[in-house]
Amino acid sequence: MKITIVYDNEANAGLKSGWGFSCLIEAKEKILFDTGDSGENLIYNLRQLNIQPESVVAVVISHNHWDHNGGLKEFLRLNNNAKVFHPMSFLKPTEISKGVHSTGALGGLIKEQSLVVNAGKGNVVITGCAHPGLENIIERSRELGAIYGVLGGFHSFSKFEKLKGIKLIAPCHCTEYSQEIRAMYSNKFREIKAGSIIEI
Ligand SMILES: [Zn+2]
Ligand SMILES: [Zn+2]
Repeated sequence: MKITIVYDNEANAGLKSGWGFSCLIEAKEKILFDTGDSGENLIYNLRQLNIQPESVVAVVISHNHWDHNGGLKEFLRLNNNAKVFHPMSFLKPTEISKGVHSTGALGGLIKEQSLVVNAGKGNVVITGCAHPGLENIIERSRELGAIYGVLGGFHSFSKFEKLKGIKLIAPCHCTEYSQEIRAMYSNKFREIKAGSIIEI
């Protein structure tokens, strides 16, 4: 199972950065999670990373904020066969593709879904902004099995003890307390940005 960070506030050389998040999950099928804030930058990064937009079978939008759905229109112009799963597509955990589940919509005012991807040695939870609270997303995700890793925007998550036992912790995008998390879980922490690849 492979996850490529396509879009983030920070980027490796040769890629565009922008406020937002997007990553490609390669399980049995290719799934794009979120689309960043700009279609132009999203497509640019996909091309630079040698990811063919046409090869993506589904796009999952975590929540309806511009920095997550901003590139969707442009992406669908290149691939109008991809299934699109909006934040309210599911109300409880549902399998989207083999080994890839949505947590279903969580949260109050801002409804947000996260992905739970089977990585063999445990599940990897992938979040957009984590507005419903990362601790709540983790709790819902545990219904699907043990969590190996958590990756994505952690927003203002500060209940750091909830990450105990998780082997891969990779916050990016809107994470407010990245330095505190790194200090507490230095040997589990992984710095990621656009261009980072995680293979499990
Ligand atoms: Zn947001
Ligand atoms: Zn965001």
